[in-house]
Amino acid sequence: MAETKQFKAESKRLLEMMINSIYTHKEIFLRELISNASDAIDKLYFKSLTDDKVGMSKSDFKIFIKADKDNGTLTITDNGIGMTAEELENNLGIIANSGSLAFKTANSDAKEKEDIDVIGQFGVGFYSAFMVAKEVEVRSKAYGSDKAYVWKSEGVDGYTIDECDKDTVGTEIILTMKENTEDEQYDDFLAQWKIKSLVKKYSDYIRYPIMMDMEKTRYLEDKDDEEGNSEPKTEKYIETETLNSMVPIWKKNKTEVTEEEYNNFYKEKFYDYSDPLKSIHVKTEGTATYNALLYVPSQAPFDYYSKSFEKGLQLYSSGVLIMDKCADLLPDHFSFVRGLVDSEDLSLNISRELLQHDRQLKLIARSLERTIKNELKKMQTNEREKYEKFWKQFGVQIKFGVYNEYGAHKEVLKDLLLFTSSAEKKLVTLEEYVSRMKEDQKYIYYAAGDTVDKIDLLPQIERFKDKGIEVLYLTDNVDEFAVKTLENYDDKQFKSISESGADLDSEEEKEAVKKASEENKELLEYLKSALDGKVTEVVISEKLKSHPVCLSNKGQISLEMEKVFNSMPNEEQKIRAERVLEINASHPIFEKLKALFGTDNDTVSKYAKILYDEALLIEGMPIENPLEFSKLVCELMV
Ligand code: ADP
Repeated sequence: MAETKQFKAESKRLLEMMINSIYTHKEIFLRELISNASDAIDKLYFKSLTDDKVGMSKSDFKIFIKADKDNGTLTITDNGIGMTAEELENNLGIIANSGSLAFKTANSDAKEKEDIDVIGQFGVGFYSAFMVAKEVEVRSKAYGSDKAYVWKSEGVDGYTIDECDKDTVGTEIILTMKENTEDEQYDDFLAQWKIKSLVKKYSDYIRYPIMMDMEKTRYLEDKDDEEGNSEPKTEKYIETETLNSMVPIWKKNKTEVTEEEYNNFYKEKFYDYSDPLKSIHVKTEGTATYNALLYVPSQAPFDYYSKSFEKGLQLYSSGVLIMDKCADLLPDHFSFVRGLVDSEDLSLNISRELLQHDRQLKLIARSLERTIKNELKKMQTNEREKYEKFWKQFGVQIKFGVYNEYGAHKEVLKDLLLFTSSAEKKLVTLEEYVSRMKEDQKYIYYAAGDTVDKIDLLPQIERFKDKGIEVLYLTDNVDEFAVKTLENYDDKQFKSISESGADLDSEEEKEAVKKASEENKELLEYLKSALDGKVTEVVISEKLKSHPVCLSNKGQISLEMEKVFNSMPNEEQKIRAERVLEINASHPIFEKLKALFGTDNDTVSKYAKILYDEALLIEGMPIENPLEFSKLVCELMV
């Protein structure tokens, strides 16, 4: 008998969690063990394709389940690749891939919530057996080895590995079930109906037969006895049944698959713990022949907006996985989509390099892009609330897609966009905005800022509100870039309310502004020179109503864009928007300036500085010399 070995600390902790688990879906242990068995068979099957020595064909591979009620054991047997003693040690003594398990080892008393998250979120694999079993025995013989070994553990105290007898290559896992408790009937998992239904539920598409000897009853031909009573005679017999259909879910017809099945498949396959927002199942024939099962997750993965995120779909060729993350199947703007594509048109042995140039693959990718776009549009039209949820998670990516590659994808994406509108502070599509435009409204107006609330306070907004003109509030960094890339929608140009010349006024109003500008030309010039190159121009505003000043910009770079550019690392030369200081000619302060101009220009200069700093503050920009500003304001107060 070998010595008892200790689990590594992390494994021990996971094991503890499994043993004491209050997780309600303990039944997933079977799915995990079957998946492992299937993976092990995959490995040997792939070997058999290139190595005649394996001596097995596809139909030889199977997984066998045996329930023994008398002994309280459940046995799962596969004829896959098996494990050497070393592999038993390495694979079962420590958690495979423990890096992906983000649970906190430091926190030693497992909280219920945390347990559930860990179990639900990741395939916890082999250890889940300890949710239902008090003892686990793994008997395995690796392909190419003439010795077999048994790994045994009763939980946290450790495990042993010994040599054992086993004739055939593969693995046998024997679970000795826990005793029943008040809340939990562990022997349920030994009932054949239960096992059958669990296999159907979680493992139906496994590509190898999952078999079990089922005890059945049949009626014998009944013979009437002398009194004429007919008593049906029955007989029990054993029949080996294949429990799974082996048809991958994506090859089934849509009508055969329930939403729950789609969702379960997603969660298991892509390690998400929440249901997807949308499942898209397509089968197409024609220029590109393929089946695809695509999912829009309900939440962006934690690393989605980082460099470490890898996009891609699983790629199958006639049911055999050939690539786990085929990036070429998804454009960047739809990189959030998870799922798989199965096509008969692709060769199994195609290399990654060749695949990139594969014409068939390109056709599939194009067709997928169209499908995803149409499905999202449908969601936007028919399930708006859901779409807004989607938008919250992935809207930035779509907007980035509009801006990316000089707008190459803007036509595909423009109708998917949502922006908050000034009207009800609700998200609207561009189509909705345009359909509500006033008859003589030429532009689609937008304002950029940090938050909806802050934009709503901008002095320039007031006049638009008065006139009942809707303004789109752009709050993400990428927004203004996207809008500028779009240039227009439905022949209507976009216009920032901070750009000079918002073209909001009637002819008379314009005339009035023009007149005031001419009359006060010298004052405006003086204010500009007092600001010492900080602004390109000082003008009479067309936009202000009750506020005295605001900033606008000339040229392509807006103040918001200036902020975004300058917040980027590696941006050596600071970019500066051309600032225009707008003054409200109907504000009392303007009267004051007029009165002082010519008699006390010194004070006019000081006021110019204060007004400019005020305008900066309103825009949410830092003022250049806070000390001077404070000094000037105090001077006024005293
Ligand atoms: P995962 O399957 O996520 O890698 P598990 O804890 O379920 O994690 O399994 C750990 C490892 O043990 C597997 O990666 C595999 O190498 C090995 N293993 C588990 N079950 C079997 C089996 N039935 N046959 C061969 N190897 C197995």
